[in-house]
Amino acid sequence: MNSNSRYRCNACGNLTRFDVIKMQRTSEFHHFTTDGKLTIEEKEVLEQQIESIHCRWCESGSDIVKLEN
Ligand SMILES: [Zn+2]
Repeated sequence: MNSNSRYRCNACGNLTRFDVIKMQRTSEFHHFTTDGKLTIEEKEVLEQQIESIHCRWCESGSDIVKLEN
């Protein structure tokens, strides 16, 4: 599942900067070194729910559209 969509703000034309709040259920492989340093590998998004997306430029929350690839 692709967890990262592209967005566009129709109010100001922003394509690059958004605040995204989302809930995710993920499966991760936690790989520890012997001294306890963690690297997360093979993260898989099982489910996600986008709660809100706000434009960083004009702070609009209602003019954001998801771009289809
Ligand atoms: Zn905007």
